[in-house]
Amino acid sequence: MAHLLITGGAGFIGSHTCLVLLEAGHSLAVLDNFTNSSPESLRRVVELAGPSAGRRLEVVRGDVRSHEDLKQAFEVAPVDGVLHFAGLKAVGESMSQPLRYWDTNVGGSRSLLSAMAAHDCRTLVFSSSATLYGYPDTVPIPESAPVRPINPYGHTKAAVERMLGDLAASEPGWRIACLRYFNPVGAHPSGRIGEDPNGIPNNLFPFISQVAVGRRACLDVFGGDWPTADGSGVRDYIHVMDLAEGHLATLDALLTSGEQLLTLNLGSGRGYSVLEVINTFRAISGKAVPYTIASRRDGDAAITVADPQLAEQRLGWKTKRNLHDICRDGWAWQQANPKGYSR
Ligand code: NAD
Ligand code: UDP
Repeated sequence: MAHLLITGGAGFIGSHTCLVLLEAGHSLAVLDNFTNSSPESLRRVVELAGPSAGRRLEVVRGDVRSHEDLKQAFEVAPVDGVLHFAGLKAVGESMSQPLRYWDTNVGGSRSLLSAMAAHDCRTLVFSSSATLYGYPDTVPIPESAPVRPINPYGHTKAAVERMLGDLAASEPGWRIACLRYFNPVGAHPSGRIGEDPNGIPNNLFPFISQVAVGRRACLDVFGGDWPTADGSGVRDYIHVMDLAEGHLATLDALLTSGEQLLTLNLGSGRGYSVLEVINTFRAISGKAVPYTIASRRDGDAAITVADPQLAEQRLGWKTKRNLHDICRDGWAWQQANPKGYSR
């Protein structure tokens, strides 16, 4: 079993991945400054993972940009590998506060990599994003597609991928995976952990579930005139538990193979339109989801769907859950926690 450092482990994807890693028997140190999360998520992760898990999860409240905080996190126990989730992720905010995004996402990754080298740890899984494909020329999108981000958030992800490529080429021993997530959604089926956005959600799923639960009156569908079957945008939604299991498979591949740089899409390969998502959510929740067709949102592409074949070849991993499972589990979380973790 490995000892792993998880940056941003209290967040949406990090918390579900911590649970899967604990269930696989690993021990974890989580470094999080709780800027977009609550310690309550980790408390519930331990509750779900069972009695021995509390001894295998250490929480360090700190910042990934801070040398001292990183030192503290690395000193919990010798670290076999790092999963790096910590970062800022709101596209609109990245346009109004680009330096904050470069500082946290790129500067934070840079500090982490120095600390890893200083502690003789060279195995890293990095949370990248399909956003770096921008407006794709072909769909489904293979990893070989051009990296052409269209906003500062995407630029920071592309910059970190470049930094990791340079590092892997500079010195032997690094084992690095850049995982390009498509649209992570859903929740653990228990309804105990899930996505808890701050303020008005930017993303489709939390918005729909907050409308269904009565926190918001109506959803704007951004564009009814896209070149898609029903005119609404199409995305590749991946259940967060499939994504978490993808991290476990990636870690196993890195820890059991030679040095390498892996760049993989994590998606299902199946697209759903906004209207299909609304209809499935309505059917499963039994709730009304009033919506109006609004104008297109700046920066949106019509269709974004992963080509997931490389991840299946390299990891033996593919998604197991569908849109029905996503809506059922996301709704269970929203119903049981209408105000999220109430931080
Ligand atoms: P999240 O905001 O829920 O989790 C990020 C975590 O990092 C939070 O717990 C936050 O408190 C922590 N954090 C932020 N800045 C920090 C800092 N300076 N030091 C320490 N901790 C810090 O986001 P998420 O959805 O779980 O995303 C995790 C990662 O995956 C991010 O890097 C994000 O860019 C990437 N990603 C997310 C999506 C998505 O749609 N959710 C898609 C593609 C990529
Ligand atoms: N969307 C929408 N209304 C919303 C939020 C999103 O119609 O309130 C659409 C958006 O245009 C896109 C899809 O839902 O077609 C997924 O958007 P999201 O912001 O969740 O993820 P993105 O693909 O932009 O990262």
